Amino acid sequence: MAALIGVLPGDGIGPEVIDQALRVLDAIARRSGRHFELRQGLIGGAAIDATGKAFPEDTRRLALEADAVLLGAVGGPKWSDPAARERPEQGLLDLRAAMGVYANVRPVRTHPSLYDASPLRPERIRDVDILVIRELTGGIYFGAKQRDADRASDLCSYSRAEIERVLRVAGVMARGRRGRVTSVDKANVLETSRLWRSVANELFAREFPELQLEHMLVDAAAMHLLSRPREFDVLVTENMFGDILTDEASMLAGSMGMLPSASLDEKGRGLYEPIHGSAPDIAGRGIANPCGTILSAAMLLRHSLGLEAEAARIENAVHEVLESGLRTRDIAAASSREATTVQMGDAVVARLNA
Ligand code: NAD
Repeated sequence: MAALIGVLPGDGIGPEVIDQALRVLDAIARRSGRHFELRQGLIGGAAIDATGKAFPEDTRRLALEADAVLLGAVGGPKWSDPAARERPEQGLLDLRAAMGVYANVRPVRTHPSLYDASPLRPERIRDVDILVIRELTGGIYFGAKQRDADRASDLCSYSRAEIERVLRVAGVMARGRRGRVTSVDKANVLETSRLWRSVANELFAREFPELQLEHMLVDAAAMHLLSRPREFDVLVTENMFGDILTDEASMLAGSMGMLPSASLDEKGRGLYEPIHGSAPDIAGRGIANPCGTILSAAMLLRHSLGLEAEAARIENAVHEVLESGLRTRDIAAASSREATTVQMGDAVVARLNA
């Protein structure tokens, strides 16, 4: 039976970058004789405009039925009134919670052809290969919120089970890598972090004694990601720290537009999306970098459909296109040829068909 992939383009540059990822999936399907059933749904601002809801019931059904979901991005100035009852970003939080995708996995690798696109010096970012794992369905983003005229609060809460399952993903993935896990917390001030740290010590002693576990405070981690990024292998952390550190880490790779992500549940079903947002400043201009979304489609094939060879072919094709000097504007260099979003997709598809 064909795998069912839910496709949620969303807002801003979301539909532009999703179009290119769909062309890549189509090229892979033709070459490998596989069949993917792609079914589109609404989310975010586009869904609010059409249905009044950021995460409509039809989309919920699709997300729960699908083997995997590929998402563009949500949000934009049109829907950013803080007093609005429905907000696009809430639709995304609801989607993640409905799918139960608690482990957000983001590979950050630097490519020699993009060293010049990073704001950091090439010798700092050479051979960086970090797997960041962020807890995605707990913590302060999901805690009780209170607000009166002069005071507001957001509750940060984690259970042992929530901490253990995301740390286990980090342990399993570190086994196939260099075997080093950095658990990032703020255990010098936060009670949730102190629980996190003790759960990590117990779990790794019990289930992953062969791995090297270290703890790092989030402020130090923010610094070391820039001063010695090569030393990180697997970095695992809670929701808000991960949100911030992954944006920081994206600059090692040159641009937000380059990086993919996978959000996984217990059974390997997943939500796949580039790490960037809807980029309203460049939406509709045909200049968005589709690489992060194309690489997210590759992660989808690997983690949810078990198609490792096809995933690797897409990653190699993107790599070769970048090596050839073709770049969207966000990663352009003096020596590169500038490509539009569609031209970048053309080039990746051409490599796959070659
Ligand atoms: P953003 O990621 O959309 O953009 C930040 C900067 O990076 C912008 O200058 C943008 O032009 C650039 N950029 C991002 N993706 C790019 C790409 N593929 N190619 C080239 N340049 C790219 O973040 P923001 O501006 O803070 O947020 C814009 C909207 O997106 C907001 O409504 C925000 O809530 C939403 N958002 C959504 C998600 C998501 O859907 N997962 C994530 C972050 C932000």
